[in-house]
Amino acid sequence: MFLDVHELATRKIRIRKDYAPGTLDFHSGDFQQIEPLDVRATAELIDGQIRIFGTFHTRLELTCARCLETVVEEVSKDFDLIYRPMASIRKDEEIRLNLDDTDVAFFEGDGLFLADVLAEQVNLSLPMKVICRSDCRGLCPHCGVNLNQEECRCESHASDPRMAPLARLKQDWPKKQ
Ligand SMILES: [Zn+2]
Ligand SMILES: [Zn+2]
Repeated sequence: MFLDVHELATRKIRIRKDYAPGTLDFHSGDFQQIEPLDVRATAELIDGQIRIFGTFHTRLELTCARCLETVVEEVSKDFDLIYRPMASIRKDEEIRLNLDDTDVAFFEGDGLFLADVLAEQVNLSLPMKVICRSDCRGLCPHCGVNLNQEECRCESHASDPRMAPLARLKQDWPKKQ
């Protein structure tokens, strides 16, 4: 769905739409959409800027950062965004474009695609690290076993891991003599 400034100049647009999994490009391989993304929003033109506000909901499949198991996350988000026309910035010398200012978004040409807006909002709503549960024990660094599911025997015969490099040094010592 394309939000066209010329159309928005004449009326507000009310949006009620479902995006099936696979129809939004998230530019990320870190997660998968597993349910339709349901969006309700309103788009309007204010002083030449596109304002789009509303709410969306979907479910995503991600990977636990500790144990690499699949995690399903419910994503619901309210948003209220302003997009300024790129052209107005180029013309107006007095506005200095600060690239670090992430609150300012722009559209080029006649408008913007709702799908791009939503894909970005989904990315922004995700935590940096997803963990399946707060007490996830992760994988054993020695044998790779998922410690949530089974115990491994590494711990019983491993010495303090901080001392391991020292122990190795000691082992090598006679060989180097
Ligand atoms: Zn986990
Ligand atoms: Zn182990």
